[in-house]
Amino acid sequence: MKTILKTVSLILCIIISLLALCSCGEQSEPHKEGTLPGHTTAGGTAGQDGTLSSTAGSSCIHVEETIIGKAATCTEDGLTDGVKCSVCNEVLKEQEVIKATGHVEQVLPGREATRTEDGYTEMVKCSVCGKTLVPRYQIPATGIWSGSAATSFAGGTGTEADPYLISNGEQLALLAKSINGSDNNAYYNKHYKLTDDIDLGGKEWDPIGCMMSAENYKSRTRTFRGVFDGNGFTISNFKITSPKKTYYGYFGLFGCISGATVKDLGVTDFNIDVNAAESSVQAGGITGLCGEKSVIIDCYAAGTVNAKTSAKDGHMYAGGIAGYMSYGVQIKNCYTDVNVSAYKGAMTNGAGGAFIGGIVGYAYWGSSNSVSVISDCASVGEVSSNPVCTVTAGGIVGSLQSYCNIKNCYSSSNVTVRSPMPVKVGGIAGDIDKNTSVTNCVYTGNASAVGTGSNSVAVGDIAGNKYRKESVMNCYRLKGQSIIAKNEVSNPFYEPEYAVVGTACELITLNSGDFYTSTLGWDESVWELSSLNVLDGKHPKMKAWN
Ligand SMILES: [Zn+2]
Ligand SMILES: [Zn+2]
Repeated sequence: MKTILKTVSLILCIIISLLALCSCGEQSEPHKEGTLPGHTTAGGTAGQDGTLSSTAGSSCIHVEETIIGKAATCTEDGLTDGVKCSVCNEVLKEQEVIKATGHVEQVLPGREATRTEDGYTEMVKCSVCGKTLVPRYQIPATGIWSGSAATSFAGGTGTEADPYLISNGEQLALLAKSINGSDNNAYYNKHYKLTDDIDLGGKEWDPIGCMMSAENYKSRTRTFRGVFDGNGFTISNFKITSPKKTYYGYFGLFGCISGATVKDLGVTDFNIDVNAAESSVQAGGITGLCGEKSVIIDCYAAGTVNAKTSAKDGHMYAGGIAGYMSYGVQIKNCYTDVNVSAYKGAMTNGAGGAFIGGIVGYAYWGSSNSVSVISDCASVGEVSSNPVCTVTAGGIVGSLQSYCNIKNCYSSSNVTVRSPMPVKVGGIAGDIDKNTSVTNCVYTGNASAVGTGSNSVAVGDIAGNKYRKESVMNCYRLKGQSIIAKNEVSNPFYEPEYAVVGTACELITLNSGDFYTSTLGWDESVWELSSLNVLDGKHPKMKAWN
């Protein structure tokens, strides 16, 4: 009897199984794995092996329901679908763990840094979940200065035929360190040459060459006395804002040069903004002091120079190229777009003063056999100051002293000064002394001298000093430009003075290249004289720096 029952049961089971298979394919999976779809026999269910398993006491007719599983992710295990009875909740098929898959590594290539652009390292991420497995790191552009000094130059022996080669900020810092160091005999009068553009990364710059003490001043060994050939390259992106006491008030790419040559160099995107304790602050884009018989030629500067002193009766000298030049200096074929200013907040005894110019702040004496000349230079930046001291300001030079000449220069710099102390403003030179000359120059900016105290105020489109009129020859200004002199405090002894000494020209004349070559005798090989539009920023400029 038991055998018959068993046989009947088996047959039944097979039939029902087949039915289930036919009616619902999806449910075959659990079945294959050994769980039969819900069915009952009296007192038992069919087991995996086809035998009856006793479920004595259960009266449920199981109704299968899928227990939804979940897929494994990269990091979390998943579960297979299970089966339970929706009536009695008996689990008919256990869920099984599906192991986490682990990340699928995908390597994203890096990029090498170039001179001007940062690069980055390669990166590994999971292509499935997107998680970053190995992060990417920035690689700084190779042309940017790290802030430290190299231990050697890129090559050369420092002779004229074999100059020391400088290709990056570290090597330039080595030059500064070598000149400024205690033992600089091997370096101060050597030849140097750039072989690449240098980006100083916006870092604080220690000027090359300074005078550390009176003794060093005499020996001049810590001024730069060599030849620096920019080779057409540019040094950019530096600041001088927290100077060291040891620089004695000389600020620029160079602190001071003497008997030196700096040529074919662009200095751009710099911010020289010094408030020094020294009583004489000399600041310029190329050099603070341009000393005896130095030559600066074919150079370009674009940035900011702001000289301030906290010294009692201090003097400030600021220029786009040099703060101060002295004795037999030549500055030639230089172009500046530098905002030049000077500031002094407190005045004692009426002494001290500011001398600011688009090219040079103060051009001090040469001698009859060693004349200083600023020629073929252009300035287009703003020249301005509103300190509490005497101010002498010009588009090319602040103050032009004996045996210094300016010729073939152009300025569109607006020169704007306010001060309670005496003010002299000129489109080319603020003040011109005896034995000077200003020839073949053009001014197209606006000049303004405003006195806020009871002191003299003078302005001129070429020079702010009419007593040396004879020094100015063949100079021109744009007709209709604004030349303002006024004293806000009325004072009968110091009426505003107009020292206008240039010939007014129509715009059409100043936009004609012929005017510069024929009337002024400028050299076309030096100046860009095509497509001029002086009111639209298309000024005559150095061809080399266009
Ligand atoms: Zn059930
Ligand atoms: Zn993953």
